Amino acid sequence: MKILVINAGSSSLKYQLLNSDNGDVLAKGLCERIGIDGHLKHTPNNGKEVFNEDVAMPTHAEAIEKVLELLVSADHGVISSAKEIDAVGHRVVHGGEKFASSVMIDEQVMDAIRECIPLAPLHNPANIIGIEACRKVMPGVPMVAVFDTAFHQTMPPKAYIYPLPYEYYEEDKVRRYGFHGTSHRFVTQEAAKMLGKPIEEVKLISCHLGNGSSVAAVDGGKSVDTSMGFTPLAGVAMGTRCGDLDPAILEYLMNKHGLTMSEMQTVLNKKSGVQGISGVSSDFRDLDATAAEGNPRSRLALDVFCYGVSKYIGAYAAAMGGVDAVIFTAGVGENGPDTRALICEKLGFMGIALDAEANKARGKAVDATAAGAKVKTLIIPTNEELMIAMDTAAIVAGK
Ligand code: AMP
Repeated sequence: MKILVINAGSSSLKYQLLNSDNGDVLAKGLCERIGIDGHLKHTPNNGKEVFNEDVAMPTHAEAIEKVLELLVSADHGVISSAKEIDAVGHRVVHGGEKFASSVMIDEQVMDAIRECIPLAPLHNPANIIGIEACRKVMPGVPMVAVFDTAFHQTMPPKAYIYPLPYEYYEEDKVRRYGFHGTSHRFVTQEAAKMLGKPIEEVKLISCHLGNGSSVAAVDGGKSVDTSMGFTPLAGVAMGTRCGDLDPAILEYLMNKHGLTMSEMQTVLNKKSGVQGISGVSSDFRDLDATAAEGNPRSRLALDVFCYGVSKYIGAYAAAMGGVDAVIFTAGVGENGPDTRALICEKLGFMGIALDAEANKARGKAVDATAAGAKVKTLIIPTNEELMIAMDTAAIVAGK
């Protein structure tokens, strides 16, 4: 089956057209800086020309329209008609408690995904736009939703229950859900292969560091804790999201500045994180560049981010009673040697040490462990698309 996988994030959109029978990637691409300016790299795997240009992408709708245009285009295409696409697999961030596994999309599912918008205000709307754009252009093609929350359903209650009145869990389902599950599942499986051990026998800490970031403790292949929570707003500082905060700050700031809850939410989701601290950008490349030029707030934003990830690594080693390997993945994790070095700087006491040369790697799977270090440090490009394609093909085939 030819499966188009759509992974619409807050400022980026990755896509792949895969043959799910043999795992071949027919074409793949990345739309970046959506809502900022826009750049699209489309790589057909049939020898046709790569498309790598700035393209105005004010929203995800324009991004997907352009992707479909490229997939069938004479110069860059890999199929002659969108009809060749057997099914579309969509990454959907928040499934609440409605979805414990991937599901065929129908109107009821769309309604349920819409109901989850308040839980993931940056992501579910982008996911919905992706689904709607595809349904419009490819009517009748089966669409599957693969939820980021599913992998973390193995967390024990002590990890997912918040210290709030218990009724809020029982009646309102307020609990830690965790996100980036498809990515954490993929890279931990890959890590076990790199370590040459069955996944059941290894304790892993997976650091998915991108525009959104989360850290997961994965013991024996099962997620046992993760930094994101009820929504993807929790955990480490992110591109524009605040991560963990003292909840009393909300009331203090709302009273002092006369902010409504919705205005406060906008601050926490869109104006915080490294963007908020630096006042420069949510993009780590911009922060690296301006910090190197001596901008103190860009430096501080990077320090806050790395310090936060570092603390989660220490916490999760404690949660699992040890760790065999730390994994870096996603935009920053795969491509940010300085960020990785800063995160690992103080972790030598627990056996984590980076090989400076191997740590220069960008975007490829590398064992970056220093000689003699007890804990492995692995850089592993994530491949959520492959996992989504397999789920999609299985559901469409009725398996
Ligand atoms: P993602 O959400 O996984 O697409 O990651 C997006 C983030 O990765 C953005 O903040 C980018 O700045 C960052 N990123 C991508 N490439 C690089 C790079 N070469 N060096 C540093 N950061 C990068």
